[in-house]
Amino acid sequence: MYRTYTYTAKLRAAVHTRLTAFLEQQRSLYKAASAGGWVRKVDPKHTSQDCSRCGERVTKTLSDQSHMCPACGLSIDRDWNAALNILNQGLVVSPPTGGNIPCGTSGAENGSACAFVL
Ligand SMILES: [Zn+2]
Repeated sequence: MYRTYTYTAKLRAAVHTRLTAFLEQQRSLYKAASAGGWVRKVDPKHTSQDCSRCGERVTKTLSDQSHMCPACGLSIDRDWNAALNILNQGLVVSPPTGGNIPCGTSGAENGSACAFVL
């Protein structure tokens, strides 16, 4: 009985996680479309480690909450640095070419970060 409960609880948690991610993705697409913007998929790999100013890779542990670049001296919050990297990747290619996703047609893949450009 315990084993079944554990499996059911894990399954419920996994479904909840995926459903929440899907709904958040749909909400983001809706918000971008209603603002006249577009969504571009961005590879989230190393976005929290690469310096948003100079591109130097600064390895961190999950407990490191700040980004301090030894190459250029940039010192900002880790999440802020990651957001700048995602935005910069999103602005590399201008719409509607280069892998952009028009709002309302399809969403970003699971695990992808999205950059919204208005
Ligand atoms: Zn730097």
